[in-house]
Amino acid sequence: MATRPVRPAPAIGTDPGITSVGALPGVGPALVASLARLGLERVQDLWFHLPLRYEDKTRISTIADLRAGDRAQVEGVVEAVERGFRYRPQLKVAIGDASGQTLLLRFFHFNRAQAEQLLPGTRLLCYGEVRHAAQGLEMVHPNYRRLDGATVAAVDESLSPVYPTTEGLGPKRLAGVIGKALALLPPAAQLELIPPELCAKHGLTSLRDALLYVHRPPPDAHLGQLMLGRHPAQQRLAFEELLTQHLSLKRMRAAVRRRRAPELGGTGELRRLLLQGLPFRLTAAQQRVGEEVARDLVRPQPMLRLVQGDVGSGKTVVAALAALAAVESGHQVALMAPTELLAEQHLHNFRHWLQPLGIEVEWLAGKVTGKARKQVLARVAAGAPVVVGTHALMQEGVAFARLGLVIVDEQHRFGVQQRLALRDKGRDGERVPHQLVLTATPIPRTLAMSAYADLDVSSIDELPPGRTPVQTIAISNARRSEVIERIHAACGEGRQAYWVCTLIEESEQLRAQAAEVAHVELSAALAGFRVGLIHGRMKPKEKQAVMDAFKAGELAVLVATTVIEVGVDVPNASLMVIENSERLGLAQLHQLRGRVGRGAVASNCVLLYQPPLGQLARERLQVMRDTNDGFRIAEKDLELRGPGEVLGTRQTGQLSFRIADLARDAHLLPAVQQVGEHMLAEHPRQTTQLIERWIGGAARYAHA
Ligand code: ADP
Ligand code: MG
Repeated sequence: MATRPVRPAPAIGTDPGITSVGALPGVGPALVASLARLGLERVQDLWFHLPLRYEDKTRISTIADLRAGDRAQVEGVVEAVERGFRYRPQLKVAIGDASGQTLLLRFFHFNRAQAEQLLPGTRLLCYGEVRHAAQGLEMVHPNYRRLDGATVAAVDESLSPVYPTTEGLGPKRLAGVIGKALALLPPAAQLELIPPELCAKHGLTSLRDALLYVHRPPPDAHLGQLMLGRHPAQQRLAFEELLTQHLSLKRMRAAVRRRRAPELGGTGELRRLLLQGLPFRLTAAQQRVGEEVARDLVRPQPMLRLVQGDVGSGKTVVAALAALAAVESGHQVALMAPTELLAEQHLHNFRHWLQPLGIEVEWLAGKVTGKARKQVLARVAAGAPVVVGTHALMQEGVAFARLGLVIVDEQHRFGVQQRLALRDKGRDGERVPHQLVLTATPIPRTLAMSAYADLDVSSIDELPPGRTPVQTIAISNARRSEVIERIHAACGEGRQAYWVCTLIEESEQLRAQAAEVAHVELSAALAGFRVGLIHGRMKPKEKQAVMDAFKAGELAVLVATTVIEVGVDVPNASLMVIENSERLGLAQLHQLRGRVGRGAVASNCVLLYQPPLGQLARERLQVMRDTNDGFRIAEKDLELRGPGEVLGTRQTGQLSFRIADLARDAHLLPAVQQVGEHMLAEHPRQTTQLIERWIGGAARYAHA
């Protein structure tokens, strides 16, 4: 029998932080592979793999004391068991304790053995999140242990950290490895990367103590404070994380600035013709921002500029002017939007404006396939001047001849990485295209400083003249029929309306169904008027046909899902009803409402809600009634929901901090900036080490 060769484990070096995790005792190749899936390759990656939250198993609560939202441990005796199959198999186990109350445990995934063990009379120790159930309270999929006979349930001595983990790597195992790594933490002075004088100046306490505290809170630690992330140890780590993010974005920006970009001066002739043909004059804000962009474009360094402007402020025409500067200079332009509908709107606008100037606009979206796709790709590779599209623009096989400018709309939906990917399409040695980013979400200053530290920011802070503010009211769904009557009357006056269905279901299919139901209801109620339907499951051609019909006034009402959230522009539509508005965030409500109030007629927005309203929903609807100012709404949104939501980066993970929370920790940012400047200038080596430490592999993008 062949013996397996024994590979010597790598030794722990003088700098344990950068040693491979495989050097830790008891960490074999399989575990190394599992850890690698979490991005944990070196010992310091384990030090900085911070708990997501803590479990308090130091005590046992009575069922009577539980409140929905708590995570708690209870001990009880099984009173009844029921197996149900109504929608999907489930196991319901009712337990009771000395407090005389009952708690329901619900399982959707369980095996037979498990079901057979949970018999009435069995004593259980459970830990889980408490929720409201139809009757009383429940825990879904609690952790539980059977206690036999007279055993007294043992409780933990201190809070247990819960780490982000991955399939195949159990929480205990991960916590064990992290413990081994922590044993190698060097002395405080050696671990610190922020120079001592800066630590002293900003009152930063020991990083070593902070790390040990969050990984192993002492028995007397305050769970409430830790859960909120407000403990000084967490704040110390949050500071360092924010600092690192800031340094990495600044470095990225500096790296880009060192590259070359084509000088897009041009003759100005095409731009002059475009402006001449427009039925309106640019606002002062559009002119100013347009000039800022033009000044960037003539430089031999790549522009990295974010143009923010409220919904309807007229960003598209500013983008078109930038595009023409590139075309005049013989370069290509790519415009990328996050949804097909929005990309189509841009295509429509760009064709409308550019075709009369003799410029063809190419279209590349995921749905362009086969021969059509081949042809588009060939024209783009041969130097077609303007291409509009979705993510498809970033895919493999798309090559440009002379990409000079990349325009990204609604960039908060794309991650930094995606932006860089498109930029790299146009890379030609040291030369990269200029980049213009458009966003309708006004970004509060605190966020702009950290999330967009790699971009210059211009603001179109003025709406075109003649817009009347939208009057907004909130109405209970109980008065739905009155609302429909109002629409009927408004249609009679020649007005057009959107009816937006906003179920926040995960699937496009369910959203489409909800819209179909509303479409049937409204078609019946609005006899004599044509009601259209648009949702994400329709083919682009169908969507376009519906939009065209609505634009042309052939449809009085358009029932839509939130696909119309961005970019849709029908000035005659002056009434909007948003269903289930209580479930939407402010940014999304503001985007949706921005679809009306685009013409000179006074517009109305009805926020239909399903009572009873929670506190947060009540506040949001109040904000919507009080103001049309996107900037104030964004500030309020940040306050109510936190930056992940405001920037819409939940999905892209662009701002996924381990411990920092921009809303909670914004007060740290001024000091972060000061320390950041100093470190960039004076301590380049520590800066690199900080980025390696906190961002690790992801930092490679920072140097891309
Ligand atoms: P957004 O900034 O939300 O992308 P758009 O670029 O779609 O806004 O512009 C909204 C509408 O306003 C469009 O119909 C556009 O043609 C029109 N528009 C843009 N600039 C002006 C202006 N200076 N005066 C009047 N209308 C304008
Ligand atoms: Mg737009």
